[in-house]
Order: sequence, then C-alpha cells, then structure tokens
Amino acid sequence: MKLTWRRQIVRPRHRFATSQWGVDEKETLQVELAHDGLVGWGEIVPSTLYGQTVESSEAALVQAGDLLGDDPFTLEPILTRLRTAFDDQRAVLDGLDAALHDWVGKRLGVPVWKLLGLARPQKQTTFTIGVADPELTRVKIDEALAAGFTALKIKVGVPDDHQTLAYIRTRFDGPLFLDANQAWSPDEAPQRIRALAQYRPTLIEQPLPREQWQHLAELCQLGVAPIFADESCERPADVLRLRGYVDGVNIKFTKCGGIREALRMITLARAFDLQIMLGCFVCSSLAIAPALTLASLVDYADLDGALLLAEDPYEGITRDGGIISLGDQPGLGVTPRAPR
Ligand SMILES: [Mg+2]
Repeated sequence: MKLTWRRQIVRPRHRFATSQWGVDEKETLQVELAHDGLVGWGEIVPSTLYGQTVESSEAALVQAGDLLGDDPFTLEPILTRLRTAFDDQRAVLDGLDAALHDWVGKRLGVPVWKLLGLARPQKQTTFTIGVADPELTRVKIDEALAAGFTALKIKVGVPDDHQTLAYIRTRFDGPLFLDANQAWSPDEAPQRIRALAQYRPTLIEQPLPREQWQHLAELCQLGVAPIFADESCERPADVLRLRGYVDGVNIKFTKCGGIREALRMITLARAFDLQIMLGCFVCSSLAIAPALTLASLVDYADLDGALLLAEDPYEGITRDGGIISLGDQPGLGVTPRAPR
C-alpha cells in the first residue's frame, strides 16, 4: 500500500468557539491509501486537547507507511500494529481506519455501512452555535433555523449563555443540547445545572473538568437532564471507567481512532445501558462520513463539523433540513469537490 498525505485548511463560516477555545480556521490532513489501482481516502483532524497536532500526526504517518503491509482487507491486524506504534495519535488512526474502510468498500463495490451490516445512515444532527457576542449569536441562531436545522447545540459556561438560551426558547421548541466543555467546578455545577432546567435541555455535556469525572454521578442525580461525558471519555476503556458515573457518552473519532474503536465503545456503552452520541470537531465531510456510517447505532448525532464550514472541500453527504444521510456510493461515499 502506498500512503501519501497533504495538509488542507478548512474555515468555519463564523469563528467557532467554546468556553475553552476558539478557531478561525482548522488545519487537517487528507490521507490517501493507494493499492491495486484504487485509492481510499481519510481525514486526520488533530486536536491539541488530546495531544495531537498536524506535526505529531505527520510524524506518526512517517512511521505508518512501513506498518500497513500489502492487504487492506486485514483491517484489524493493521490497526493493531498502528495502535502499538503510536497509541497517543488517535486522530491518525482515525484517518487511516477511514482510508482502509474506504478502499475495501470501493474494491467490493459497496458502501461501508453495508459492509458493516448496518442500516442506511440517515440521522438528525444537531447544529452547534459556537460562543460569540450576543448580536452575532442571534444571527447564527436565525441562520440555523432558516437553514432548517431541527436540533441545536449551545455552548454554555460563558457569560451570555442564559441570554442566548432565553432567545432560543422564544424561537425554537425542539431538542436543545447544552455543552459546558469542562467549565464548572464540582461545587458550582449543581447550581449552574439547576438554573438551566427552565430551557428544557435534551442533555448536558461535560459540565466538569475531565479529570473530575467521579463527580459527574452527583450531577446525574439532579434529574435536570442526562449528563454526558465528552472530554472525560476518549477510548473504549473510558466507557468501562465511566459506567455508573454518567448517563451517556460522546464518541468522537478523533479521540478514539475510527470506525473499529467506535464500534467497541458503542458495544460497551449499550451493554452498560449508557446513551450514546456521536460528535466531531470542525472538519470537512471526509471526516464526518465514517462517523455518519455508524449513526443508526446511536441515540444522537452531533455531526455538524462540515456544516459549519464556509466551503466543504468534499461532497457526498446529503442534508435535508436537519437530517444528514449517506447514499449507495461504494466506500465512505464522499469525494473531493471539483475545484471551481
Ligand atoms: Mg462536547
């Protein structure tokens, strides 16, 4: 297998910010796995939150070339070798896991979701309103509703959050996800969460710093909304650890390393009766397609990374109002958009 990659920059339509960080543009890596006349694509979306950068990803890719072998169908042994070599670079594992699945699907002439025995991915996604000043926040909410999105996600744990939520509830009665991105201490969180009850949240993500996950159990007891771990839950072993402490987990491919690790997390979460959402970072639809492939297995999708962009360099995912779906194209189902 021949592995190549290139850096690409994607830009959100509006600056995208949370209570902890913000981006005006995001650098990702497009990987290409060429073998036997076919090419599989994947996208690496490094996150500094998890010790991943474009540079650390490229260093891992240099190592990966020699570990791929010459049979893309042997996904498990290949990915085990890669995990052994650079377990800390799960965004790279995700990009390579995607490219391998894409190649195998294309070779067999079937979409990856069919290859995995799943229903066609067709799922409501939330659309996230990043943190901004109150005026721009209103513009973003109005844009999202005009675009037909039927579930919204709001970043809380910032000074104007109640103003934003009150505005939303005058305009929108649908599912509302709240994400504090680790903003509160265990002492203040109960009071903060009780104050959010009036907005009828569908769920609340990561109210506490990620290492304080043991206190999440107390917040579940409040009964305001299901409490989900995001930053506290990266990989399959984290689902085991969080059993009994949270109501649900947010699985992101950049954190766990792609389709195969995500399937293990989903199996564990279901066995422990945890709710599941699929999340993402700002990225192109090449990085969304692998997660969307598994959408029929989860409760909620927050797969808006490419929908936030001014221009998505890939096409293949369809959106109808708040529903995103994949068709019958072989492989992951996305291809580079023709340059204008
Ligand atoms: Mg989150």
